[in-house]
Amino acid sequence: MLERLDILACHSLIINKENEVIAVNNIAEPNTKDVIKADTLLSDKLLNMQDTQGEVLLIDGKYVYSQKFTNAPWKFIYYEDAFVVILKSFVYALPLFLMMAFLFYLGKLYSRTHQLSIELNEQAIRDYMTGCYNRRYFYEAGEPIFFNNQRKGTSIAVVMMDIDDFKTINDVYGHHIGDIAIQEVPHILGQSLRKSDLVARVGGEEFCMLLEDITLEDTQKLFERVREHFEKNVIKADGIEIGYTVSFGIAYGLPNSLEEMISLSDKALYHSKNSGRNLVTIRQL
Ligand code: GH3
Ligand code: MG
Ligand code: MG
Repeated sequence: MLERLDILACHSLIINKENEVIAVNNIAEPNTKDVIKADTLLSDKLLNMQDTQGEVLLIDGKYVYSQKFTNAPWKFIYYEDAFVVILKSFVYALPLFLMMAFLFYLGKLYSRTHQLSIELNEQAIRDYMTGCYNRRYFYEAGEPIFFNNQRKGTSIAVVMMDIDDFKTINDVYGHHIGDIAIQEVPHILGQSLRKSDLVARVGGEEFCMLLEDITLEDTQKLFERVREHFEKNVIKADGIEIGYTVSFGIAYGLPNSLEEMISLSDKALYHSKNSGRNLVTIRQL
């Protein structure tokens, strides 16, 4: 009777010196009950192969491993169709591939979600027409700057700016040109302000700025220069050339609250408007 080697997963046989199969697993020959000659199960090539020292040989499209034992008169052979080996490798590697693909997908999903949340956050804090911050963000970012300077005992400047006679631009050239005129504001401001200065569009043609680490004298000089810049600027759009002036109201110092500063800069702006426009009015606390 043949011993069974059913525990082994590929074609496995033990043959003696007479080339008789003395043990076999169900994959190698499922119905074998009696001793049979090995050459009915194995090709000559397989039987005559040199014993390997643990390496695997490719014979007749099969991966074959043959091993002699020093104290036993038989040898052990196991083999598998190369195609099956490749198929099994693929099947075994498949969960790993799927896992990697899933992790890759998760990574992509995470970075897309992260990107979307950055974009959404940007949309929530910026004015879509000019790209400047919006009123809500001005307070959100302005408060910590204010309190930081209050703690240090240093002065800040809150600057309110409004385009002069803007209604006339809309009336004469139309709303579209009016929009272009408003979109010009951050470009002109950007040429003189620092990147760290907070600039927000707080109304139709009204902008509010918060500056720190600047003296009263420099604030005055800076906004006189910006005012002149607006005055000299010519916007070319749709074959027409337009220009406009702006008025500024500045609150400088260290008050009790940011609201107090904004309110004072509003009053200073009102003064610029009432004094003929195209002016910078500065109020110190
Ligand atoms: P002042 O010098 O006193 O500031 O006069 P003004 O004409 O600029 O002021 P007023 O507040 O009377 O007019 C502002 C105009 O700005 C009215 C409004 O139709 C216009 N406006 C507000 N938002 C926008 C906008 O997004 N695009 C355009 N084109 N116009 C706008
Ligand atoms: Mg105006
Ligand atoms: Mg206005």
